[in-house]
Amino acid sequence: MRISTITNWAYAITVGMTILSGGAFIISAKSIDEERLATERAWRLDEQVEALSRAAERTTEDARLYIQKGDSRYLKAFEEADANERARGKSLRALDQSRLSVQEAAALSIIVNDAELLDEIEERAVKDFANGEQEKARAAVFSAEHEEAQSGLLASVAHFTDLVATRTEQELASAKAKADLWGAVAKSLLLATALLFLSVLYFVLKRRVARPLLEMSGIVRRLAKQDYDVQVLPDGRTDEIGDMNAAIQVFRDNGIERDRLDAERRMDQQTKDLILQLMHRLQACRDEAELADVVPLFAVQIFPGLSGRLYIMNDGRTALTAAGTWNDPVRSSQEFQTFECWGLRRGRPHMSDSSEGDVLCQHLNDALPGGSLCVPLAAHGDIVGMLYFESVEGTKLIAARVYIELIAENLGLAIANLQLRNRLTNLATKDALTGLLNRRSLDESLNRLRREETDLPAALLMVDIDHFKRFNDDFGHDAGDFVMCQVAAIMADLAGTAGLAHRYGGEEFAVVLRNVGRSAAFEIAENIRHAIESTPINHLGRPLGTVTVSIGVASTEANQPPTTLMQRADAALLRAKSSGRNVTVADWTDSGGAGRLVG
Ligand code: GH3
Ligand code: MG
Ligand code: MG
Repeated sequence: MRISTITNWAYAITVGMTILSGGAFIISAKSIDEERLATERAWRLDEQVEALSRAAERTTEDARLYIQKGDSRYLKAFEEADANERARGKSLRALDQSRLSVQEAAALSIIVNDAELLDEIEERAVKDFANGEQEKARAAVFSAEHEEAQSGLLASVAHFTDLVATRTEQELASAKAKADLWGAVAKSLLLATALLFLSVLYFVLKRRVARPLLEMSGIVRRLAKQDYDVQVLPDGRTDEIGDMNAAIQVFRDNGIERDRLDAERRMDQQTKDLILQLMHRLQACRDEAELADVVPLFAVQIFPGLSGRLYIMNDGRTALTAAGTWNDPVRSSQEFQTFECWGLRRGRPHMSDSSEGDVLCQHLNDALPGGSLCVPLAAHGDIVGMLYFESVEGTKLIAARVYIELIAENLGLAIANLQLRNRLTNLATKDALTGLLNRRSLDESLNRLRREETDLPAALLMVDIDHFKRFNDDFGHDAGDFVMCQVAAIMADLAGTAGLAHRYGGEEFAVVLRNVGRSAAFEIAENIRHAIESTPINHLGRPLGTVTVSIGVASTEANQPPTTLMQRADAALLRAKSSGRNVTVADWTDSGGAGRLVG
């Protein structure tokens, strides 16, 4: 019940009981009044009857004196006393009989009758005396009849007084009992009202208000300190305290929700910060290998509950290979064909989860449970790879999906940019026909050698195909191009890790050898020359014989500066040509300036 209802009820009951108590007090006071009135009434009745009795005595006395002495003064006194007595008798007869009991009324009637009888005897005697019959008059006022009437009157008065006294006593007793009863009722009601008031005060203030308020103030203090472990009163009250309790519950729920949202926001911010860091590093990657190291490093921090792989699309756009892995994914294979992934086929993220009722990608092991997410990496309308995630120990993928897609968008752009940069670099540094480094790269290689100021030796081979014009003329330019590629491949292969092969221009090539002594350089040159002359040319199923090359070799060994490498190698090549071609000539200046001819 609500506190206001309890207090309203208590107020109404208290007011009602106070009114009843007041009523009882009034009734009690009225009974006391009745007591007083009954006494007054009895006293007045007694007085009236006594007055009549006294008046009768007086009349008798005056009548006897007149009759004995004959003095007219006594006659006058008699007449006055008689008139007074008659008036009193009349007023007694006219008295309200309803207030008297039957016996009292009868006694009163006897009194008046007796008084009238006495009056008649005395009036007759006075008349007789006046008519000269003194003896008769004297005998009458002292007769037995007169004596009897007089004593009858006195007895009647005494009887009446007794009756009135008895009745008054009863009335007084009844009025007193009534007054006592209502007085007791009034006091009891007053006491009950006081007790009720105190009980309600105790119940409402102490039990219903003070105690819960004390508990709530403790709860509110803890909530103010953001201690949401505090338990709100679970009593399900429907009163004002219950309302406040419900408000505190809402306050606590809001606090918990705000905390949860704060934690979510912090987590979101942390994730976004990590994603931003990842993007900065992706932009700074120089090649796909670096990128494949960076992505797993951040993926484990951003998605600790997920494992996955970064797949890169091959040049033919037919298959994907894992370039980076984190948290050991188990469902997806290391390599797979493009068509095996629904995400790649549709060009949009695909969630493979058997419990979700969607189709599973074919590159996944469907015997293993759990969800997988394939997000194609696309840029400039082209798919360059795929970001793959699977849940570890039931972690939900769906919550991470928006972040994964954000990363995928940037990762796709980063891979596409790297591939574009690779293509541009190739265009700038490589020869389109043979795939060897171009002349610009050769200049850079030689400049680097010049700048390095190292004691380690270096060498340069200048290679020129012999009579290539003639070959072109005999077999056509396409066959010539084919030969050029074949010669380039042999040179790159034999230079191996020791050197870099370049196309210098036309049908001339240059091989820069680092950390290679001059005899080793000469040997490599000879190996190249022998390999070319012994490799048959077969173009479009047509055998075209073989070609030969002339090679000029120069070295930085024996204090020869790298700045003159090109010039010396060129000079050696010229000598090789002039000495009949298909030879290697070295320009060893320490051997007297003369070239050494081999071949
Ligand atoms: P030598 O033995 O003195 O070097 O004679 P050569 O004919 O090889 O030399 P020359 O400088 O007279 O001719 C070079 C020829 O190489 C001319 C040109 O047709 C050919 N050539 C240059 N670049 C290319 C190319 O990219 N493709 C083809 N097929 N031929 C080329
Ligand atoms: Mg030439
Ligand atoms: Mg030539």
